[in-house]
Amino acid sequence: MNQRRTRIYEGKAKILYEGPEPGTVVVHFKDDATAFNAQKKEVIDGKGVINNRISEFIFNKLNAIGIPTHFVKRLNMREQLVREVEIIPLEVVVRNVAAGTLSSRLGIEEGEPLPRTLIEFCYKNDELGDPLVAEEHIMAFGWATPQELDDMMTMAIRINDYLSGLFMGIGIKLVDFKLEFGRLYEGDMVRTVLADEISPDSCRLWDVKTDEKMDKDRFRRDLGGLVEAYQEVARRLGIMNGNEPVERSKPVLVKSD
Ligand code: UDP
Repeated sequence: MNQRRTRIYEGKAKILYEGPEPGTVVVHFKDDATAFNAQKKEVIDGKGVINNRISEFIFNKLNAIGIPTHFVKRLNMREQLVREVEIIPLEVVVRNVAAGTLSSRLGIEEGEPLPRTLIEFCYKNDELGDPLVAEEHIMAFGWATPQELDDMMTMAIRINDYLSGLFMGIGIKLVDFKLEFGRLYEGDMVRTVLADEISPDSCRLWDVKTDEKMDKDRFRRDLGGLVEAYQEVARRLGIMNGNEPVERSKPVLVKSD
């Protein structure tokens, strides 16, 4: 026992280890923040712990409404257990309000509500800077099958509807976010499931009243206060009362004299 775990992969914000059973993986959330294809880097104390919690919360909610995901359970402050999947090499970006690269690409002012929700695909390739691609490219190069593309679009729309409402209920506008999907092999079957994480690192979240940014743009744009903003998101979601279950006092026997 107590052997060192085998590291499968180290990414920009996470490390993957072999899980305790075949077909499982342990995801470790680091404090590293990167932006602009890792040209900007910083270690932000506590970010990994908060993202682990927020992502756990969101994946549990999505599991509960029937979205298949890789998530099994959170293991500790920085780690979660997930099912091993083959990542589909696409980032699925869902947008409700213009921001970021959509605004710069098309000259639409940030904050402009979009006439309809947009779903974009980027090819996951760091050397190329994750370029935007069309369905044509995905089909031509076989990055996903037509069935997988359909699964991803259907799930992305459901996730957007659900999360937009969830965040609106706590005074937060879900401007845009990024999803990743994987292939889960079960015997002869393969299923498309939601993978990676959903956290303020992968979403744009603006306070409804003030439009204050509560996401990774605080780092990208040197606004400061990133951990405080992520903590506020967690607090509003009702998950930031420390890492222990809430202490409940035992029933007290009331005696009448
Ligand atoms: N996003 C992400 N990882 C990426 C690129 C984008 O999580 O590698 C998220 C980003 O946080 C935002 C949404 O996807 O919520 C849309 O990002 P955009 O295309 O505007 O690019 P960015 O401005 O983030 O470079």
